[in-house]
Amino acid sequence: MSQRPVVVTGGAGFLGSHLCEALVARGDRVVCVDNLSTGVLDNLSSLMGHPAFRFVMADVSRDLPVDEPVAAVLHFASPASPSEYLVRPLETLAAGSEGTRHALELAAGSAARFVLASSSEVYGDPTEHPQAESYWGYVNPIGPRSVYDESKRFAEALSMAWCRHKGADVGILRIFNTYGPRQRLDDGRVLVNFLVQALQCQPLTIYGDGNQTRSMCFVDDLVSGVLAFLDSDVVGAINLGNPEEHSILELAQMVLDLTGSPSPLVHSELPLDDPRRRCPDVSRAKCILDWEPTTSLAAGLLSTLAYLRRCSSLSP
Ligand code: UDP
Repeated sequence: MSQRPVVVTGGAGFLGSHLCEALVARGDRVVCVDNLSTGVLDNLSSLMGHPAFRFVMADVSRDLPVDEPVAAVLHFASPASPSEYLVRPLETLAAGSEGTRHALELAAGSAARFVLASSSEVYGDPTEHPQAESYWGYVNPIGPRSVYDESKRFAEALSMAWCRHKGADVGILRIFNTYGPRQRLDDGRVLVNFLVQALQCQPLTIYGDGNQTRSMCFVDDLVSGVLAFLDSDVVGAINLGNPEEHSILELAQMVLDLTGSPSPLVHSELPLDDPRRRCPDVSRAKCILDWEPTTSLAAGLLSTLAYLRRCSSLSP
């Protein structure tokens, strides 16, 4: 096949695998690079054997072994859930630093577009609401979460340095909380935890008082935003997420209503530096990419619930 591939690092993960599927579905050739540290091959089952898809097992922070000209590089490789990155601190920092450097080198070698999967975590525990791209963030550089926050902030700085000093075509996506099918059952993030707990009639674990907020974007919406950004020539950072903000207690109640589960709520300690409020300002994405999320929280939760029921023996 002569068509240059789009390289997706972290392509066996939750977001990466949906992205690989969407790219192949629209006619792109895809090379997925993953070390399966937190991603799983099962996520790629619909793509394995497809002529437009190739899987490369590699740790992008050591090496990015793609020996052909590429059309674009999407750097999504990194542990992403707090429970994942807190137990993989050095791996997380390496994915953002050396991993980003390797991904930039690969893209620049083909004068191809580079898209960094950054995060709303660059805003830390924000003091401005909603968070616009112009906000510089409020991050504890030595707290436990810093391994992820600063990894993404360094990755952004490195990407912009390549853009300014080497002329690289660099786009940065600040991805807010996203949920949907293929999040691992033990992923640890809030909605998958609540859904699994509700299905198992276990208590829903509320960290702290539950008044902290998050804004939850369904994965299909996120992926359509990533594709629009990839196809654009936007340089610099843009937020992607759903601006509908809910408290954690509201999310728990929605899950209980949806599942009809009798699970009680239990409170436990709030993790250190847990952001109190998070909500994206997506006006830049709306204006420049003509993108906004369209999936309601109820519809997204139902789809995730159906997936969880399919992939496990969880009872209703
Ligand atoms: N959270 C919770 N119970 C859980 C998992 C998470 O109350 O079982 C809270 C967590 O403290 C945070 C929010 O839900 O305030 C979102 O956490 P998550 O790990 O999903 O992602 P984060 O936005 O912190 O990266």
